Formats: sequence, C-alpha cells, structure tokens
Amino acid sequence: MKLICPYCQTTRTSSSGYRTIRRWGKYYRSSDGQHLTRYWCSNCRKTFSAASTSPLKFQKKRQFNKSVCDLLTGGVSQREAARILKLNPKTIVRKFRKGSDLALDKLKEWNRKLPKCQEVEFDDLETFEHTKLKPLSVTLMVEFKSRRILGFRVASMPAKGLLAASSRKKYGYRVDDRAKARRDLFNEVKGLISSTAVIRSDSNPHYRSDVKRYFPKARYEVVLGGRGAITGQGELKKQVWDPIFSLNHTCAMLRAHINRLFRKTWCTTKKPDQLEKHIALYALEHNRRLATARGGS
Ligand SMILES: [Zn+2]
Repeated sequence: MKLICPYCQTTRTSSSGYRTIRRWGKYYRSSDGQHLTRYWCSNCRKTFSAASTSPLKFQKKRQFNKSVCDLLTGGVSQREAARILKLNPKTIVRKFRKGSDLALDKLKEWNRKLPKCQEVEFDDLETFEHTKLKPLSVTLMVEFKSRRILGFRVASMPAKGLLAASSRKKYGYRVDDRAKARRDLFNEVKGLISSTAVIRSDSNPHYRSDVKRYFPKARYEVVLGGRGAITGQGELKKQVWDPIFSLNHTCAMLRAHINRLFRKTWCTTKKPDQLEKHIALYALEHNRRLATARGGS
C-alpha cells in the first residue's frame, strides 16, 4: 500500500520502509462501525488516517447518506425523508447540500470518462421558485438513445402570458438569464460532444446562433415541439413519433423523481441554487441507474 502524508506529501513506498510513515494506533468510527488506522509522519510529525482527506470528514450519521440520496431522488420531500429516517430535517438539508456538491463533481467526472457523444438533444424545462409568477428555466443536454445527462443549468426568466403583468406588479423586473445559462452549458459540455455530432432541439429562434458558435462543425436539426399527451404532461408528447424523445423522456423522469418538479405539487423550489443541487443529485443517480440497467459500469 502506498501511503501519502496529506500535510507534507511525504510518500511511503516499499523501499523507504517505516522510516517515513509508521502506524500510530487505531480508532473506531461509531457511525459506520469501521476501524481506522492512524499513521504518523516522521517528516512533519503529524498524524493522519484515511478519513483526513475524505470529503465526508467529520460527518456523523454517515450511514444515512445513501438512504437520504435514494429518497431525495425518488420523489420524496426533504421533510418526509426526515420523518421516514427519523432524522432532524436539518440533518437532511446538510446531507442534501454536501451530497449534491459531490454529485456535481462526480457527474462531470463520469461524463468525461465515456466516449464523446455523436448525437445529442437539448431543450428547456420550465418550473418556478416559490410562485408561478417567478418562473425558472432548466436547460438540459442529454445523449440521444442512452438518455445520459451531460449537463444542465438553472436560469431565472420573466413570467409569460397572463402572469406577466401581475408578476411585474408584485415582484418587479425579473432578469432573463436563459441565454447566459445556455452558453455556460454549451461551453461546459463542448468537450463531451464530438465536433461533427448531430445536435437536435425544438424550434427556438435563439438556439441556432449559440449552437453555431460553440459547435461550428456540428449538424443542427430543428424539430417541431408537439402538444403534451394529457393535461400537465408537458414533456410527454401526443404525437406518435417524438423526434426529441430522449430529451423529453429525461425531463419527464426529472419531473417524476424530483418532488419539487412534480406537476400540481404542494412542494416548490424556494431557492434556484437548491434546485440546481437537487438536479445534480438526480442527474448522477439517473446516469448510474441507466448504466446499471444496460449492464454497464
Ligand atoms: Zn507529513
């Protein structure tokens, strides 16, 4: 086993032997019942263990991490998860925030390891923070067929139609961040998509110029958006053949598994950044479940 001191990077190899880093007792971690060995570094005279560099350092109740993630990506609200697991709601919030930060990094790492996509689809999913007068837009990019989520962004947008006037009156001017979010997303996923890939989306006048800018050699296909199959099913289309089915199906999966995105729900997003975290948590789980279903890694 190769040992590295997290403080001074001294390495113990088989040739350097025990002169550099030696064992310094053991301790018992009650939250997951593991025995961990402490080590002592002769260079900086500090002690450390495997937990010193772990992102879960100082976590109590780490045995609940998986259950919290499973519940929050299975359509359960944070309060309900607290009730089911008999934990304090604050514990759930902390685990949610920590877990989603880690999930975002893991999602990027996961996607980087896989071969570049040849066919992708993207579109916006609409939801809101606190009230329908404050809508949010989630831009999502997925791989065609496999439905793997490559990336997403949450942006604020002004209310449309009948709600526009009352939104303006009550909450004032609402910034439209959609274009910036879309460009950020394209910039992020650029490396995951083949330069000559096929990119598909529905007909939005703003999309074409951004696609051309970030994917100059790609083939861009515009499809017509259809009507929802039944009331409240915006993403699942009525038409028999949905040209951006992979994308719409993924949006529907998000709506079915993230309780703040349910339609006609009692539970709503209160802060856009927390919605982003929740999608991150689900996106990683989504890609994992798809890979398991296909028998992959
Ligand atoms: Zn050291």
